[in-house]
Amino acid sequence: MAILAVGSIAIDWLELPDGRKGETLGGSATYFTLAASLFAPVHVVGIVGSDFPREGMELFERYAANLDDLQIVDGKTFRWGGRYHSDWEERTTLFTELGVFEDFKPSLSQKNRKCQTLFLGNIQPSLQLEVLQQMEENDRRVVSDTMNLWIETTKDDLLRVLQQTDILLLNEGEASFLTGMSGMVDAGHRIREMGPEKVVVKQGSQGATVVQESGIIHTDVFPVSRVADPTGAGDAFAGGFVGALANGESLAEALVTGSAVASLCVEEFGIEGLQKMSRDDLMHRMDVIRQRSGLP
Ligand code: AMP
Repeated sequence: MAILAVGSIAIDWLELPDGRKGETLGGSATYFTLAASLFAPVHVVGIVGSDFPREGMELFERYAANLDDLQIVDGKTFRWGGRYHSDWEERTTLFTELGVFEDFKPSLSQKNRKCQTLFLGNIQPSLQLEVLQQMEENDRRVVSDTMNLWIETTKDDLLRVLQQTDILLLNEGEASFLTGMSGMVDAGHRIREMGPEKVVVKQGSQGATVVQESGIIHTDVFPVSRVADPTGAGDAFAGGFVGALANGESLAEALVTGSAVASLCVEEFGIEGLQKMSRDDLMHRMDVIRQRSGLP
């Protein structure tokens, strides 16, 4: 079943603790598409400027199943710069240049309005809402992602998105920031009262937990040999998770898939880990995660 995915498409500048720095293709929709396309066809909703490199377009042509709603307009592609500190805990945003994102008006093709799985990647909640409003009424599943910036600056729009979200993905810090509650499970249930039936709390090296009416499901991580660059790990997790769900897998299996894909993402610079992803390596990592999580 196809996934309609909206998010940022970016040219990122990354500075890593080992001194490595450089430009790479990035953005929430980019990481998501690379990750999810192994499991289900991805239809991309996004915008790039006339400076978007040829190799970027080739990447989307290779990984995405449908680019009808990818707009290419005169102007500069969204740019984001980030610097990591030696403990990986902290990330400083060096710059955010919206470029063509500033005037982005998502406009969905008739075909894409009918998609039954919608992923609202990390972008301004007002844009997530514009996509939601254009979807045809059906029994679609909406999975959303967000970040502290939107909780802080556009909470009302974010709450409107949550009212129409079935599954929300966020990390522990974001869950406590959104609710003012420190316990992950309590925060998850508080968020459920805002709309989502299920809340997936990403806990970094501690794994991930789904909070739902019937209780929680927790899965462990794959122990990576080294973290090279955590950028996009959340979007890669989302790609594996939503891809597995669109493929008819269970919630636990979707968590395992998301964690395995994220582990591949963080081992390389930028999107390189996802580009190198092989089915065999992924299957092996999923086996390890299932074992560590006590799953069959
Ligand atoms: P993550 O590491 O999961 O936070 O995702 C990193 C990606 O998010 C980068 O590739 C950035 O281009 C993108 N990003 C950073 N800030 C924003 C923003 N304000 N809106 C949309 N995408 C962003």
